[in-house]
Amino acid sequence: MKDLLGLVELARVLRTQASVIVVVLATRKQLCQGAAAIICQRECLTDLQVHRRRILAKVRRMFRALAVLSLIAGVAHPAAAGPTKATSKATSKATSKATSKVTSKKQKVTTTKTPRKVANKSTRTSSKREKVSRTPTRKSLARTDNMPKGFVWPPNRAMLAAEKACEARLDELGIAWSKAEREGRIVNAVTVSENGTFELGGVTYVSAYRKGVQKLDCQLALALATFGPRLEELGVQQVTYGSIFRWTNVRVNGKTKNILSRHALGIAMDIVSFTDRDGRVALVQRDYNTGDELLLGIEQMVNDSGLFRLLLTPKNDPISHGDHFHLEVAADYTAPTS
Ligand SMILES: [Zn+2]
Repeated sequence: MKDLLGLVELARVLRTQASVIVVVLATRKQLCQGAAAIICQRECLTDLQVHRRRILAKVRRMFRALAVLSLIAGVAHPAAAGPTKATSKATSKATSKATSKVTSKKQKVTTTKTPRKVANKSTRTSSKREKVSRTPTRKSLARTDNMPKGFVWPPNRAMLAAEKACEARLDELGIAWSKAEREGRIVNAVTVSENGTFELGGVTYVSAYRKGVQKLDCQLALALATFGPRLEELGVQQVTYGSIFRWTNVRVNGKTKNILSRHALGIAMDIVSFTDRDGRVALVQRDYNTGDELLLGIEQMVNDSGLFRLLLTPKNDPISHGDHFHLEVAADYTAPTS
């Protein structure tokens, strides 16, 4: 800093919180006095490594001006800052330390190369990541490019007609069902049991966690009823599921996306395990990666059936689907697929 003009420029830069190099030319005594001027305490600025050089007569006055400007800009050198390197053309090897207990929140005078800056950046990024919510956002709700065929919101006439046709199919199959109040973006919410345990297509479905009424879209109920006999062929007697409806965004590979989950439409089910006729439990988390034949057979059958979208498993999404199968009906809101 050669003159006050430089100080003004520095203050401008500080307001933007950019990294700048501050070189203060002063004696230890003057630093202490300067610090006192800043914080009204008899403390020195310890963390500034100052290259001492020729002390100009006006340095002290300039330092005080810097202090005032720094406070105006809401910045000052933090007491907690580690040792930093000041760059200067000064050739003296001597450095001096001073202390400061300044506690301004925005304090950030900088003296340095970038490690602190990088660390701050990564902290910001990780805290952002932690705050990510799975609740649908305006953006995820506005997207229609990832939705099933014919899906719009609110549901149009064609969709409601397709759901009516679906209900008629449930009746034809002799399935006991009830209409439920719409939730999230379930086009046509139905229930097939009062307590979360129900039978569709000869297979019993049991909730692993939440007991009580489970809402689902008619098309998922119809697909499960249609697919049931094929599961039975494989020896499946019971399916234990984690959840069906959830008001949430998609999560794959450990990342939450700006895409509304199919669970929010009531057309997907997360399956924890399958139990065969002999009572053996094939747990997705434990047995899938050891090549459990039942689980692999089910995967194959689901994918070959054409009733569902690609089954998500510990193989194709080990991070977010390491402990369950995501089974999702290939819903068609222009006409039910099954
Ligand atoms: Zn799922």
